[in-house]
Amino acid sequence: MASSTTRSSVIIIGAGTSGISAAKVLAENGVEDFIILEATDRIGGRIRKEDFGGISVEAGAGWIAGVGGKESNPVWELATQSNLHTCLSDYSNARFNIYDQSGKIYPSGLAAESYNKAVNSAIQELKNQESKLCGSLTLSEPSVAPKTPIELAIDFILHDFEMAEVEPISTYTDFGEREFLVADKRGYEFLLYKMAQTFLHFASEDKIIDSRLELNKVVKEIKYSGNDVTVRTEDGCNYVADHMILSASIGVLKSDLITFQPPLPKWKTEAIMKCDVIVYTKIFLKFPYKFWPCGPGTEFFLYAHERRGYYTFWQHMENAYPGSNILVVTLTNGESKRVEAQTDDKTLKEAMGALRDMFGPSVPEAEQILVPRWWENRFQRGSYSNYPLLSTRKDFVDIKAPVGPIFFSGEHTNERFNGYVHGAYLAGIDTSNALLEEMRRKKVRNQASSLHLKNYLLQPLLALSEALTSAQRQTLSDISKWEFAQQLFLKGKLAMQEAIK
Ligand SMILES: Cc1cc2nc3c(=O)[nH]c(=O)nc-3n(C[C@H](O)[C@H](O)[C@H](O)COP(=O)(O)OP(=O)(O)OC[C@H]3O[C@@H](n4cnc5c(N)ncnc54)[C@H](O)[C@@H]3O)c2cc1C
Repeated sequence: MASSTTRSSVIIIGAGTSGISAAKVLAENGVEDFIILEATDRIGGRIRKEDFGGISVEAGAGWIAGVGGKESNPVWELATQSNLHTCLSDYSNARFNIYDQSGKIYPSGLAAESYNKAVNSAIQELKNQESKLCGSLTLSEPSVAPKTPIELAIDFILHDFEMAEVEPISTYTDFGEREFLVADKRGYEFLLYKMAQTFLHFASEDKIIDSRLELNKVVKEIKYSGNDVTVRTEDGCNYVADHMILSASIGVLKSDLITFQPPLPKWKTEAIMKCDVIVYTKIFLKFPYKFWPCGPGTEFFLYAHERRGYYTFWQHMENAYPGSNILVVTLTNGESKRVEAQTDDKTLKEAMGALRDMFGPSVPEAEQILVPRWWENRFQRGSYSNYPLLSTRKDFVDIKAPVGPIFFSGEHTNERFNGYVHGAYLAGIDTSNALLEEMRRKKVRNQASSLHLKNYLLQPLLALSEALTSAQRQTLSDISKWEFAQQLFLKGKLAMQEAIK
């Protein structure tokens, strides 16, 4: 088994959006002596394209969410600079494209009524939680649980899909309400390659050849003290650095993939455990031809079933990739985990059942299926973080606060934009800026303590000065203590280079 030790100033764990943006900021500030350790064989993390059915689909993040508002979304800016091809998504009609199990679309009046009921119930639930938190004794009205298939479908999109949340979301209030689907064969990940090009060496547009990026390095142990951090990978390599940026997902932090020596403090592990993980799965299906309606207002449609979240949310890819004959169905949480645990053939059968309910028995069999498994992936353990409603400021502060030389990054550390690519991107920048500040402070501290040490070393020398003439004593006291100690060192009279440096 290999057992080498590599030393650097900073170790960055993870080459996803936050790891890459963090490295870029370090490089821009003159800290080039870092090493990025990535568990997989690629950069990108939860941004991952797959070749499927003749096009490039996004198995992870697909949308640039939050565009067109008062502030500019930094990821949208990167996409614009890179001429990334995107397609505007209009979800507004989805709530009126709800199919029942016999293939009929619910009347729009009933859909609107169910939608209003669901929104009111969600607002009531929020109020109830608020009063519970404040310890209020006032009995609040209980929220009404959804019961019918249409109510369950609407409840699902309201709570499990970002398109219609009841709480204002910073992404949309700050950056705007529009969402653009990335539809580019270079993939969403192209933005990361573009960023990495500014500080890593490339052999070609997507081939990185820089010894500071080590792929297939699974970090399994982090030992830290006040001064440095040592990392051990599964293949037996050791890495030592003054500082670390840890950008592994919240799911990984909750798992036992990485052990810490000493264990992380209680306030940190409690903050990690409080933050939930959402599993979000986009299943892609390729057909020989299309059998679903196309045209304005049809891109998104819902399937109402008595089981909540059962193949509920559908999208056709004709707007983004005309002629691709691809449908996407999104599952979340329990349904995602259930599907991940079964064979793709079983999933295909279930999805075909839902489609035949909606569009009739003559629907052709899908030729291909893609089921990403974000929950089973031990380098992810879920899709993104989700802070419980009414989380406190302290929860966010604790989750990102450094522990000794370990600085935490990743989308889950971004208070305003957690769960999103721009959240991860901004988190990387914030973490590096905090680390750079700490490096500056450490330098000042080191200088101050070496001054203190030099003074301390000077005392015996000053005692010796008793033997000097008064003129010699005067010269000695005129020299500042710091300069004196340095001069002695330079003349080789004190063999304590480490102490003085
Ligand atoms: C299915 C899905 C759909 C999504 N849709 C959207 C969307 O439409 N729009 C949007 O804005 N966001 C979306 N997101 C969220 C978005 O993808 C993430 O917020 C963002 O990519 C997270 O970046 P990160 O750098 O924080 O983490 P990651 O990208 O997860 O990077 C962390 C890296 O750490 C590595 N790692 C983990 N453990 C170790 C270890 N022990 N040793 C070494 N390396 C390790 C991982 O391999 C990974 O590369 C989606 C996510 C998923 C999964």
